[in-house]
Parts: sequence; structure tokens; C-alpha cells
Amino acid sequence: MNNLPDNLLVMKFGGTSVGSAERMKAACDLIAAEAARRPVVAVVSAMSKITDLLLDATRQAEAGDRAGLNYSLSQLEHRHLTAADALVLTKQAASAKGSPSVAHQRIGEIVADFRRIVDGIQMLGHRPPRAVDEAIAAGERLSALLVAEHLKSRGIAAEAVNAAEAIVTDADFNNASPLMEATEKKARERILPILEAGVIPIVTGFNGATADGRPTTLGRGGSDFSASILAAVLGAAELWIWTDVDGIMTADPRLVPDARVLEEITYSEAAELAYAGAKVLHPRTLAPLRERRIPVWSKNSFAPEKPGTRIVPALAAGNPGARAVTSMAKVAMISLEPAGAEVGGVRIMARTLDSLSRANVEVLALSSSSYRQSFCLLVRDEELDEATQAIESALTLELAHGYVNGIEVDREVGLLAVVGEGMRGFSGVAGRIFTAISRENVNIIAIAQGWSELTIAIVVRRDGLEKAVRAVHAECHL
Ligand code: ADP
Ligand code: ASP
Ligand code: MG
Repeated sequence: MNNLPDNLLVMKFGGTSVGSAERMKAACDLIAAEAARRPVVAVVSAMSKITDLLLDATRQAEAGDRAGLNYSLSQLEHRHLTAADALVLTKQAASAKGSPSVAHQRIGEIVADFRRIVDGIQMLGHRPPRAVDEAIAAGERLSALLVAEHLKSRGIAAEAVNAAEAIVTDADFNNASPLMEATEKKARERILPILEAGVIPIVTGFNGATADGRPTTLGRGGSDFSASILAAVLGAAELWIWTDVDGIMTADPRLVPDARVLEEITYSEAAELAYAGAKVLHPRTLAPLRERRIPVWSKNSFAPEKPGTRIVPALAAGNPGARAVTSMAKVAMISLEPAGAEVGGVRIMARTLDSLSRANVEVLALSSSSYRQSFCLLVRDEELDEATQAIESALTLELAHGYVNGIEVDREVGLLAVVGEGMRGFSGVAGRIFTAISRENVNIIAIAQGWSELTIAIVVRRDGLEKAVRAVHAECHL
């Protein structure tokens, strides 16, 4: 039976951190340096923009755009072959007869796998989520291959591992969830023997497979989640997430130039931030780690000497006030109003929420007010159609008989969220946030604050969202 290694470090590299041959070399430097001291499992994303390219290709196939599809495929191949050459994977393993190197041959095979699936999509004229999942894992398979081959070319033992052979998920294609017990067994069987042989496993992020072997993906940005799943089931001592910023910051630096790096942040704060749109972490990353109290670091692969952010169960000293502000632009608000106080607004709300949960639509925020119990809720843009259809069919009778005054949809809204455990019981934070937003002449449409006081969520007009984020950031001295 394989024993869990002591002191295992799981390192995850995001798309920009393996975005070119040069970045892959830097990632390999970081892997090699740590692997000299302790067992390491690396998890890699696809090279930056490759998942978008693959998804575009599946859409081109669906639309029967053969020329577009061929161009996408040639780009896919070209980008990885160029990287392979720059990673000096050409000469190595090439025989005297000039047969292609292992890397070139494997790139050809993975691209051919992808081509086979998109050809099928073109024939069908539509993109079953299942086929898309099988297709787009190609991005991570290619980057894992290049990283592993480059380490080998440096004389460091490494093996590319397809996470479909390690992570077991449900069959919710495009947004699958791990089945942790089954994953624990499968991941240990696949990965521990590699570690025991002194080889570094380079595992694909983003993908998995159902128990009966159908390929799945964990949702966009899901490689963070892959790494945390593996860290949990392999009993890792730490997880390091390498990205392109100095850590988790008080706001998205693309929106707020003077955002500051946080030295430490709690699991709860980081999870809330991720959930409310901070792209630096996939929203589900922390769930598998929390219970096991596995510490996580968010670090910059472009500046590895910087400390990064440590995500911990709790902060030592009290940090009063807000910690960070984040936002989501691609959201829509759905409002419902019972026709009169006698209609039973709570029942309507219950039916609405039940229908959304059955349709797998995530409710990002919910706010209710007035004696009539009108309420509004926020969903992602991309889930809006499903949401309105689900509500309409759940409330068919109420709508037909006029018990509910129609379903209103507002697409021109954005969500701003202020997060901080230190806001709990600390009076005045909300007031300052609202004042800062109104000073910018941005109208507040809805507010939601949970009992835990961990997050204050505010819905504003979308065209005022960025201004509001900067104003709140300045006002809270973040
Ligand atoms: P990776 O490819 O490494 O997974 P992502 O692009 O998914 O990287 O996430 C990193 C990006 O997240 C940063 O470039 C930054 O623009 C964005 N971001 C959003 N909110 C924050 C925040 N609060 N702190 C740090 N980065 C943030
Ligand atoms: N490559 C996938 C994506 O772009 C997963 C990830 O990068 O985390 O969504
Ligand atoms: Mg990411």
C-alpha cells in the first residue's frame, strides 16, 4: 500500500505562468527548486488563451465554419510546437533518421484527438457539453506534456498525468464537482507510485472524469480547484498557487491601480472574494482544504521572491473594517413583486428559489423588502435565460392569475462586494461605503448583507461599477 508522503507540496501554475516557453522554463525552475527539498506535485493550466481558442474551435465546428476551424487548429499546433522548440525538445529523443521528438509526436496526437472530437461536433451541428469537455482538456494535456518533457530534458524525472485518471467527478459537464472519496482512492493509486519512484507528477488542471470514465471539466478557471482537490486527497502540507500578480490584493489591480497585496487572509474571506468575482482564485478552491486546514499561498511566478498572500484558517490579531473589494460586471437582476400583501410573498420566494436550484442557476445575492415582500435576486448573465424560464414555469399559475406583477429583468447592473471578517460588529463601515458610492453619483439599486457580516453586497448601475469600486477602495483605506 502506498504511504502518503510527508511534507508534500502541491504547486499550481496558471495560464500566464506557463504561457510561453520562457514562462514554462521559469515554472520548471520553481518546480525543480522545491522538488530538491521535498515531494512536489505540479498542476498546470493550459497556456494562456488556449482554452478560449479551443472553445472557439468547438463553436466554429458547430457552425460548420471549416476555414475558421482549420485556422484555430493550426494556431493550436503552432503555438505548442514553437514552445517545444524553444524548450529544446526538438533534438532530444529524435532518432538519426530524423523522426519527430517525443514532444512533437505527442503534440500531434493530442491535436489529432481534439480534431476528431470537433469533426464529430461539426457532423452533429451542435456541441454536446460532454463532447466539449472531452475536447477542451487538450489545452492542459499539451501544457503538462511540455512542462514534463522540459524537466526531463534537464535531467529531472517527471511524468505528465491526465487528471481524468485521478479526479473522479459527477456528470455535470462543463461544471463538474469532485466525488472526494472516489478521487482519494484513484488519485492516490495513480500519483503516489510516481512520487515514490522519485518522479515529479505534472498533472493537468481543469479536468477529471466520471466514475465510468466520461471526461469532464470543473468550470472556467478550474485548475485552482484541481490543485486543491489533489492537495486535499494527497494530504499535502501546503498548496502554492502561482499566478501573474503578487498575491490576493485589496482589489483587482486592473481596476484599482493602487490596490495592495494582502499578507494574510482567512479561508472565509478569500472564498467570499472569489465567489464575488475576484478571478485570482476559482470560487470552489478553498472548500476541500478548509476542513483539513491545509495552508494555501497565492504567489507571483513573475516575481517568485515576493512573499505572496497566505490563506489561513483565522487571523491572529483583530483587523477591524473591510479587507478587500471586488466586483462582477456580467450579472443581471430579476425582480418579482406579489400583487398584494395577501398573496404570500414568502411562498412565491420559496417557489422561485426552488425552481432556480433545480435549474442549477446560482443566486449570487438576494434581497427582499416591504410588507408586500417584493424581492430581487442576482444571477450571472449567462444563466439569465435559464433563470427566467425556470421562474416562469414555476409561477405559471400565479402569473396567469395576476398574483405576481410580472418578472422584471435588469441587465444593466453590476455587483460590488466588500469583504472582511473585521466588519463584524464594527459599526459605520456600511455607512461609509454607501456614502462613498453616492458621492460618485452612482445609484445603489439593492443591498444584501448576511448575518455573518463577512460580505456587504451592493448592486449598482453597471456603468458606475468601476467608479464605485475605486471610491469604496479609497474610502475604506484599503
Ligand atoms: P491564472 O491564470 O494564474 O489562474 P487568473 O487570470 O485566473 O490567473 O487570475 C489572476 C488575475 O486575477 C489577476 O491578473 C488579476 O487581474 C485578477 N484579480 C481580480 N481580483 C483580484 C484580487 N483581489 N487580487 C488579485 N488579483 C485579482
Ligand atoms: N484553462 C482553463 C481555463 O482557462 C482552466 C484554468 O486555467 O484554470 O478556464
Ligand atoms: Mg485562474
